[in-house]
Amino acid sequence: ETHSETHGFQTEVKQLLHLMIHSLYSNKEIFLRELISNASDAAEKLRFEALSDGKLYEDDGDLKIRIAFDKDAKTITIDDNGIGMTRDEVVEHLGTIAKSGTSQFFSQLTGDQAKDSALIGQFGVGFYSSFIVADKVDVITRKAGAAVADGVHWSSTGEGEFTISNVEKAGRGTSIVLHLKEGEEEFADGWRLRTLVRKYSDHIALPVVMQSEPVPAAEGEEEKAPEDETVNSATALWTRNKSELNAEDYNEFYKHISHDFSDPLTWAHNAVEGNLEYTSLLYVPERAPFDLWNREAPRGLKLYVQRVFIMDQAEEFLPLYLRFLKGVVDTKDLSLNVSREILQKDPNVDKLRSALTKRALDTLIKLGKNKPEKYQTFWNEFGQVIKEGPAEDNANKEKIAKLMRFASTHGESADQNVSLEDYVSRMQEGQEKIFYVVADNYATAKNSPHLEIFRKKGIEVLLMTDRIDEWMMSHLFDFDGKSFQDVTKGELDLGETESEEEKQAQDEAAKSKEALVERLTEKLTEKVSEVRVTHRLTDSPACLVIGDHDMGAQMRKIMEAAGQ
Ligand code: ADP
Ligand code: MG
Repeated sequence: ETHSETHGFQTEVKQLLHLMIHSLYSNKEIFLRELISNASDAAEKLRFEALSDGKLYEDDGDLKIRIAFDKDAKTITIDDNGIGMTRDEVVEHLGTIAKSGTSQFFSQLTGDQAKDSALIGQFGVGFYSSFIVADKVDVITRKAGAAVADGVHWSSTGEGEFTISNVEKAGRGTSIVLHLKEGEEEFADGWRLRTLVRKYSDHIALPVVMQSEPVPAAEGEEEKAPEDETVNSATALWTRNKSELNAEDYNEFYKHISHDFSDPLTWAHNAVEGNLEYTSLLYVPERAPFDLWNREAPRGLKLYVQRVFIMDQAEEFLPLYLRFLKGVVDTKDLSLNVSREILQKDPNVDKLRSALTKRALDTLIKLGKNKPEKYQTFWNEFGQVIKEGPAEDNANKEKIAKLMRFASTHGESADQNVSLEDYVSRMQEGQEKIFYVVADNYATAKNSPHLEIFRKKGIEVLLMTDRIDEWMMSHLFDFDGKSFQDVTKGELDLGETESEEEKQAQDEAAKSKEALVERLTEKLTEKVSEVRVTHRLTDSPACLVIGDHDMGAQMRKIMEAAGQ
């Protein structure tokens, strides 16, 4: 070995290692999933690069992952013939955390182990999880296409620094040797490893190969030599038939592609033939990622063309308001040498995007119908993002509106659990509009004097208190043929819910107050644009109303805060 150097880990890596070892201990077996996942990514990257440079295969196009162990030495080796790493790449990938959102992640840590381990789960544990079970890790790697002499050996005990040196490595790819901690010897066992591979990595498209267990020789026969065995199904999960897949399969595949730690809430797996041929597998996470509101946060689907991995985080296939979805799209209708620039122009991408968007919305609508409790979890986590939908995606407004849930005067709490379909089903005879009020918080909304007449008449009003609500409502005009009406705006029109007598009584009341109205108009001329007699109120003497086309109170505050 030559050119040996010692490097310190980036501070964040040290923190992550410390945290992981302590908070993920009860999940320690996931290290194998993470290393197999990386090996699989490395093979896919090689396949992609080799599309334009076949020499990278170096006469070895049979991509696989090999797992071996040594009970006496207490080691496990995970070996791949994927893309490999250069020295610089090793230093960067196995010495720092380059992910966007890293500082945000660290700022959200609380020191509470349960909370933090959930957060790490979302952040993605990756390679460093090796140190949950190993007290020394060696990585020997050579980049595809590099000279045999340009192999790299990385070694660390996970305590603040690593060494790196040059070695010869005949085969391209990466070998990772875990030196198991005392007490973790159980992992250096064929049955244990096989079970873990099947449990966590069955969906990996590449063969995961192990030597067969030695079989004791029968009388008079020679002992059978161990041979290579493929342990997993070795078929890309989304290419398999739905009927041969179970929830566990889908859950584990989700963890592989999402870096999320917990199971998804639901998924939609579809193979479509015809004009546009594609297979998609979309997942709805159970929890919002910590960087949901970070504009730069990675998002998008994994893109495959004819089963060849093309890129991660292909953003073009879903609108922003569905950015929390994870998944895969595999199509025949894009070229294998498609690039991010081409994606933005290819008309097939637009078609795929619109198909996938509909698919995602339908999946969520179905979840709302069939699994209301799960849907409520979804809404509580992602409702605010869905509310960006009406402005972004005019074509799908009706579907998006079906996803909405609101607090309303029908219920007694701030929980957003009333759908517009619920609302419409409770509309009064003669009621033509969907009424709502926007306020800063639930208490203010609920106690708004504007609601008095609605209470009296038993008409339900939606109570909106999210910052985005007023803006959203400026893009959402109707649902099921009924228009929305802000109860604080303009003339009150209760449609046919009012009887002739009521209307007459109102007209008479208005006449009898004409003098008062005149006096008030004079006094308040600087402050309001009009004074009217109203039947909006039953208990309060007066209230402020905003013109039909004026900005609402919430928007006004936002604009003021922005200095406008
Ligand atoms: P992630 O997989 O989310 O990127 P990891 O911590 O698992 O994060 O891995 C960090 C990086 O190290 C990978 O993105 C990859 O660039 C590199 N890497 C890890 N394992 C391998 C491997 N077997 N072959 C090639 N590169 C690898
Ligand atoms: Mg990884």
